[in-house]
Amino acid sequence: MSSAYVIHADFYQTDREGMALEMPSSYLLVRDGRVVSLTTSRPDVSDATFLDWSGLLVIPGLTDLHVHASQYQFRGLWMDEELLEWLNAHTFPEEAKYKEISYASQAYRIFTDDLLHSATTRAAIFATIHEDSTLLLARYLEEAGIAAYVGKVNMDRNSVPELTEDSEASVMSTLSFIEKMKDFKNVKPIITPRFIPSCSDWLLDELACIAKERGLPVQSHLSENQSEGEWVHSLCPESVSYADAYRRHGLWGGVPTIMAHCVYSMEAEPGLMRNEDIFVAHCPDSNTNLSSGIAPARWFLENGVNMGLGSDVAGGTTLSILRAITDAVKVSKLRWRLVDQRFRPLSFREAFHIASRGGGAFFGGVGGFDEGMEADLVALDDSVRKTAIKDLSLEERLERHAYLAPEEPVTHKMVKGRLLF
Ligand SMILES: [Zn+2]
Repeated sequence: MSSAYVIHADFYQTDREGMALEMPSSYLLVRDGRVVSLTTSRPDVSDATFLDWSGLLVIPGLTDLHVHASQYQFRGLWMDEELLEWLNAHTFPEEAKYKEISYASQAYRIFTDDLLHSATTRAAIFATIHEDSTLLLARYLEEAGIAAYVGKVNMDRNSVPELTEDSEASVMSTLSFIEKMKDFKNVKPIITPRFIPSCSDWLLDELACIAKERGLPVQSHLSENQSEGEWVHSLCPESVSYADAYRRHGLWGGVPTIMAHCVYSMEAEPGLMRNEDIFVAHCPDSNTNLSSGIAPARWFLENGVNMGLGSDVAGGTTLSILRAITDAVKVSKLRWRLVDQRFRPLSFREAFHIASRGGGAFFGGVGGFDEGMEADLVALDDSVRKTAIKDLSLEERLERHAYLAPEEPVTHKMVKGRLLF
């Protein structure tokens, strides 16, 4: 199979500073998994497979920085509660089913197939506490060619009995999961304490040691909901903030770390957010559905805080990061109008930049077509919604597609230079 491609299409991306780069009817040369060049004339190479995607809109693959594969089966259901009630009433009973490998197999196949046909090429994924079914999810993703971090979730307190691990067993199972993942190429383990209320002090300390000793990234939740914040304060009265509770247990930087939501972090822990290892996963759909609030995305941008977008299924209803882009724009307008006029709304371009280069930075630099970047891309057919207007820019075509057809399956997909379809 050829490891070099020349793709002819209409290319849209943002540069490192977030400026739009439009390259209509251009040629992308990919070799050995990486971008070689993006030019208006066809490169003179004889050993590359030519892919004629004329008229299709090609964008860098998008990153889903926060998604629960184990909640995908109940997406679009049970949206009448806030976070803590929703977890107990719906989420924990569903996640308990993943003890049965047959259920996990069926559910994770559906998840993987839908993720494969979305615009997402990289994802940071929560599974459940169950080692075997989490390994199965990792295998399905690896076979599909998606690049992902997958976490076996740790929980040893404040849950339903079926999802409460013995503390030492939780650590041993995490180490075993890491060991079994060592031959995977595109899918890697990530340390995944669910959130402070679910993990004892001892377990948090142990997980921090594992992450640092093995150089593994971490993912968790932070300052999503006000009741949750008060609960964390009662569980960790010595901490001055939710983020400080992670910090006291060694889980605040030192390794790349995703913190999902951070809705209240501007008020609660502003100083701690300016940490080069911390990435905010902004999940606007979930924060709306669970009445959590509106994260201060503009404040994160202005303060140099790393940020990507997350679907947070099943708090969010869809895997579409194109939808997350438009949701991020919409909630930023409501926040500006109703909450705080110091922070102007996000533009479509800014939200796209967050979803591509912003989240991609967690994976070591994807999200654009710079020379040497890993070649992650998707081709969109924006003709699926007709319009009589003929003179749209590439950015306008993308904006329109994101608002009108965000869940439309992508037409082609490439991850690390490998053409998946
Ligand atoms: Zn989550």
